[in-house]
Amino acid sequence: MFNTLLLLTMTACTTDPMDTGNPPTPDESLAERIDGEAMDRRLRDLFELSSVHDDRLTTSEGEEAAWDWARAELETLGWTFEEQEVIWGIPLRRSANLIATSPFGSEDRILILGAHLDTVSGTAGLNDNGTGVVAAIGLAQAMSERQRAPDHQARVVLFTREEDWRLGSYTYAQSLSDAEAEATAAMLNLDVLGSPNGFPYIMDGYELGGSLGEASDELTTLLVQALNEEEQPWDLFDPNIYSDHVYFIDREIPIAYLATGGGDLKTEEQAAAYGGTAGQPYDPNYHTPEDDLDNVDQELLGVMTRAAAGFAQELLYLEP
Ligand SMILES: [Zn+2]
Repeated sequence: MFNTLLLLTMTACTTDPMDTGNPPTPDESLAERIDGEAMDRRLRDLFELSSVHDDRLTTSEGEEAAWDWARAELETLGWTFEEQEVIWGIPLRRSANLIATSPFGSEDRILILGAHLDTVSGTAGLNDNGTGVVAAIGLAQAMSERQRAPDHQARVVLFTREEDWRLGSYTYAQSLSDAEAEATAAMLNLDVLGSPNGFPYIMDGYELGGSLGEASDELTTLLVQALNEEEQPWDLFDPNIYSDHVYFIDREIPIAYLATGGGDLKTEEQAAAYGGTAGQPYDPNYHTPEDDLDNVDQELLGVMTRAAAGFAQELLYLEP
């Protein structure tokens, strides 16, 4: 009698979802979760801040206002944040990185999404690097809103003082414990993602050489797959030392880097392959006052953010 009751109870608990007539809807991918409207709104927010404060030069009121804005955006998504002081010079000057950590996922594997928040002087810096900031926050939103939370931890790190020897990312990379550095599967650098004469560019991680090059090459392959998924042409560029990824090399952390081109000139071959104007810079407004809302290719920004989402999904989930 007891056994029969137990069996009945167990049967009742293991109902087939198909029997309800309402099977659960399949979870969207992180790329499908990217909220284009929210990204547009955030770009406009950053632009409006620049109409009050001119730029986000390190230690300026504009950088501080953007910092508070980004913190509020990430807090709304439920991410915890930390202020990391960055100091230099005599007399002493100080600024801060913003480190936001996902409220889900185990620390045995970490994905760092990095973007610099500062600008050069006298510019709204919407492409350089409002686009990277908006992409990083958009990725955090997609992770928070997906039905299934990532199994591993994500961190959005918004760096100060990239435009002046990358002291913010240096400070952050140096602050990681050996265990954290070891657990970090990738640092994805998001810098300049909506160049009006640009196209999808991926750093060729293999060229870093040695075992770090091999590990970074795997990340390059993931980004290639993600852009293929978006049916977008892409090209590789050689590693350089001009953005926030560079100090992660010292820590042996695999690096991935998405960009759409800055002040260099588009070649005839590139114009033939990706469209746009040969002989003109990828971003004619790079580091000028014209780097504003009108001069960001928001469609390209969407493509790059969805590619980063495809990349993040591969690294953060045990199963797709
Ligand atoms: Zn930049």
